[in-house]
Amino acid sequence: MNLFDMAKVPMAAAEKAMKLDPGAAAIIAEPERVLEVHIPVRMDDGSLKVFTGYRAQHSTVLGPAKGGVRYHPSVNLDEVKTLSFWMTCKCAVAGLPYGGGKGGIICNPAEMSKGELERMTRGYIDRIAPCIGEKLDIPAPDMNTNGQVMAWMMDEYSKIKNQYEPGFITGKPLGMGGSEGRTAATGMGVVVAAFEAMYVNGIDPEKATVAVQGYGNVGSWTAKLFAKRGCKVVAVSDVKGAIYCEDGLDFEALDEYVAANKTVVGFPGTKEITNAELLALPVTILAPCAMELQLTGENADAVQATMIVEGANGPTTPEADAVFEQKGIFVVPDILANGGGVTVSYFEWVQNLYRYFWSEEEVVEKQTEMMKRAFKNVYEASKKYGVTMRVAAYIVALNAMAMPMKMRGIY
Ligand code: NAD
Repeated sequence: MNLFDMAKVPMAAAEKAMKLDPGAAAIIAEPERVLEVHIPVRMDDGSLKVFTGYRAQHSTVLGPAKGGVRYHPSVNLDEVKTLSFWMTCKCAVAGLPYGGGKGGIICNPAEMSKGELERMTRGYIDRIAPCIGEKLDIPAPDMNTNGQVMAWMMDEYSKIKNQYEPGFITGKPLGMGGSEGRTAATGMGVVVAAFEAMYVNGIDPEKATVAVQGYGNVGSWTAKLFAKRGCKVVAVSDVKGAIYCEDGLDFEALDEYVAANKTVVGFPGTKEITNAELLALPVTILAPCAMELQLTGENADAVQATMIVEGANGPTTPEADAVFEQKGIFVVPDILANGGGVTVSYFEWVQNLYRYFWSEEEVVEKQTEMMKRAFKNVYEASKKYGVTMRVAAYIVALNAMAMPMKMRGIY
């Protein structure tokens, strides 16, 4: 099964439970538009390299397509289509006036100079420019893209349009249209969703232990904000390995260590464990915050967590989901749990359209309120239809899309 087919498994269960019109289901099963581009880049050694990139717009039913751009050697069309589909559902669950999009370039940024990255980024925007815009499709960062890349993209697009265009892209640095609170936003949302989940399951956060897979943007903020709110974070990991500390990790010291060593592995006072061992720890909350397909039919049985809160997109396969349901593990799905990032991206876009900026307190307050509302809607749907939180999240998303599709006459 490819990734896109796998991603549609819970949606099919949702369509069945809510008796969705087959016309709507058929439309949502495919992206509206997929663009493949080839970008010639002059490399530092004088050679010419042609990079392949994509932009998928899964849906514009609820508003402009919205979603990040990923730079990675394993980027492929199936992945980009799947990520754009998840964005559609995530934005609908979060109650945002957006559809879903996603982009990517097949490249290895670790082996490229800053100049090569800039030329490739500008070339990508030149190629996709006819299909993007603040009312059409709004890119953002994803794996290996950051505020600097967004700044180049905004500059290139503004040149093409011959006007200042901050609203066509989010995740920009502060001081050039970026929003307060964006860097921590996804992790913050994961923690808000986890606290709501603990509340409905009668778990005392002060007694909760947490393991976080991945210590990048999402994982590091998730871990730190869990600790800040009184949970004991006993393990974190990155691509090089995992660390464990029974008494809870000291994040100030860990961040200094990571800045110097580029990995969590070897952090003094911790025991080194494998990523597989981290996933199997007997913790209250397991937060996979690294990448897709981490919890599978192979390792799901070993998971001992009381609940799983998905910071990453698509970390759990349908086989693992079935095991978790049977074991009674409460799963807060990605399209609900990691919606905090796109919610603050939405705030950034709104601030750009108004040219009026909010304080960090305002951003956090509005984000928390929206995350809590989204959690409540999904939890209530799970009770109403007697389904898992994942299937319920798809019911909420499909419900939000079905009426506008019908009223607009899309089918
Ligand atoms: P990132 O590149 O900043 O961090 C990824 C982290 O995962 C790194 O620490 C990396 O070393 C680690 N990692 C990679 N493979 C691993 C493995 N096999 N085992 C353990 N650790 C591994 O990326 P990010 O922005 O934090 O994104 C992480 C996930 O969250 C992705 O699935 C992304 O699509 C999703 N997501 C990100 C955002 C956002 O705002 N950044 C929003 C929603 C969802």
